[in-house]
Amino acid sequence: MSNRDSFDICVIGAGVIGLAIAYELAKKYKNQDVSIVILERESSFGQHISSRNSEVIHAGIYYPTGSLKAELCVTGKELLYSHCEQFDVPHQKIGKLIVAKNTEIDALAQLKKKAIANGVLDLQLLNRAELQRLEPHIEADAALHSPSTGIIDSHSYMQSLLHLAENLGVQFSPYSRVEEIDTEADAFVVHCRLDENRNSEQYQFNCQQLINAAGLEAQAIAHTVSSLPKNTIPRLYYCKGDYFGYRGRSPFSHLIYPMPEANTAGLGIHATMDMSSQLKFGPDTEYVEEIDFEIDGNKAEAFAKSISSYFPAIKGNDLNPAYSGIRPKLSALGEAATDFEIQGEGAHGVPGLIQLFGMESPGLTASLAIARHITERVVL
Ligand SMILES: Cc1cc2nc3c(=O)[nH]c(=O)nc-3n(C[C@H](O)[C@H](O)[C@H](O)COP(=O)(O)OP(=O)(O)OC[C@H]3O[C@@H](n4cnc5c(N)ncnc54)[C@H](O)[C@@H]3O)c2cc1C
Repeated sequence: MSNRDSFDICVIGAGVIGLAIAYELAKKYKNQDVSIVILERESSFGQHISSRNSEVIHAGIYYPTGSLKAELCVTGKELLYSHCEQFDVPHQKIGKLIVAKNTEIDALAQLKKKAIANGVLDLQLLNRAELQRLEPHIEADAALHSPSTGIIDSHSYMQSLLHLAENLGVQFSPYSRVEEIDTEADAFVVHCRLDENRNSEQYQFNCQQLINAAGLEAQAIAHTVSSLPKNTIPRLYYCKGDYFGYRGRSPFSHLIYPMPEANTAGLGIHATMDMSSQLKFGPDTEYVEEIDFEIDGNKAEAFAKSISSYFPAIKGNDLNPAYSGIRPKLSALGEAATDFEIQGEGAHGVPGLIQLFGMESPGLTASLAIARHITERVVL
């Protein structure tokens, strides 16, 4: 046995998913003298995918029935609303409209069937007049109304998770970049670089259970795990999504989504609002080679053209570049969408290791359900 520091469980990554996992683990092992650490390379939590998304609480409509995305989204949505109520996290069940032309009405009805199969039972089909009453600025022939779709202040949500986890004894370690993971007979040895921009130093510790929730870096970390068969690591593709803010007051009172196009990597350029009612449009989809959050302002015209299919009054100069995010996709451009990939010992043969790959949308909505799914699989 070495004389290094030792933790029972280490979670890598303090995005919304790592934070939710740490919180659920802390609840499971409350008062049981189990040590849990969460390592984050940045100065604080949630600075990557978790702060560059639409902040929508999804209903669970689109995902293939029986997939982890469908199941964890539907369960996660309920858990998330209860969490927000219990811990005063700002959110609003604002509702969403998926709007369709006459030629898309069959597809809209199919979407409703899929939603029902996924356990989303509250959708209502609206005709043109009903839609006009709800959203007079929208041009469409029919819509699906999803009353359980909402918006959330994701920063406050993450703050609540961290606060609750710390109160239950979880140790949060910012400025801690995981560089390499060795496996010894009875433990993982996690090699970190602490405080890399100031008084950089190396630190090693042992842990029994290791959970890799590093978002866009999950594959890179997996490649450093000495005992892991590397052919179990799925390939990562970066798929960027840009958002443009709308100048002026929102003409809508719901989130507005076009019909999803077949074989696209996103849900179409839709209209979402944040908790201060600022309207934004996006995200589009663009496969990229590198992580880069620059937005090409010239895209405003293309955005306006796409949005005008359901909001004819939009003009390119109504739109301002806002921010962008990068999806950690497991499918290449044009390939069928993939599910969340949560790998435990059964998938890779390494006891004590759980890795999360491809945690794109609806990862924010599903975060508490993902965390419970993982917590059930952790055995000390
Ligand atoms: C454009 C876009 C729109 C989206 N919209 C929605 C939506 O409306 N609703 C929804 O439910 N979901 C949405 N999602 C999905 C959701 O945002 C993600 O599923 C979720 O944020 C992923 O969280 P995470 O914790 O896995 O990743 P991250 O938030 O990226 O967290 C990973 C953390 O790991 C840390 N890390 C990385 N490498 C290391 C290392 N070596 N050592 C230590 N720490 C490390 C990072 O710094 C980071 O903090 C969207 C995603 C995108 C990209």
